[in-house]
Amino acid sequence: MIDERTKQLYQELLLDHNKNPRNFRVIESASHEAVGHNPLCGDKLVVYLSVNDDKIIEDVSFIGDGCAISKASASMMTTYIKGKSVDEAEKLFHQFHDLATGKIDPDSDEHDLGRLKVFAGVRDLPARVKCATLAWHTVHAASQGEEKVTTE
Ligand code: ZN
Repeated sequence: MIDERTKQLYQELLLDHNKNPRNFRVIESASHEAVGHNPLCGDKLVVYLSVNDDKIIEDVSFIGDGCAISKASASMMTTYIKGKSVDEAEKLFHQFHDLATGKIDPDSDEHDLGRLKVFAGVRDLPARVKCATLAWHTVHAASQGEEKVTTE
């Protein structure tokens, strides 16, 4: 169940992160980068990662264009995984995916997603799940050394 307060917070965060996307830039010296494409909606973004020798994500950014959900999700993701290890980011990716597809309860302690739980709102909109998870799939691909990922 998604309550009214969560819905309202979701709308506010979408607006805020579209108006003022965080970490929206190229990292010239990135150690990893990948292009993510969601042809269903037309979302396309590039994610950059700077991973150090201890496998910590020292910096992360994105550029690209897409719908409000894909951009807000990418923006919020960068603020979330910056400073985390690649393994932690991978764990969050799986949690986020399970949250967006309705496999875990947003109000439970089965996840460490904090405010990202508002994206549970897309679970009733299957086409939007791909928008919300695109940035995460792209980081996953980048960290595996893949250059491209598509939601198709
Ligand atoms: Zn989209």
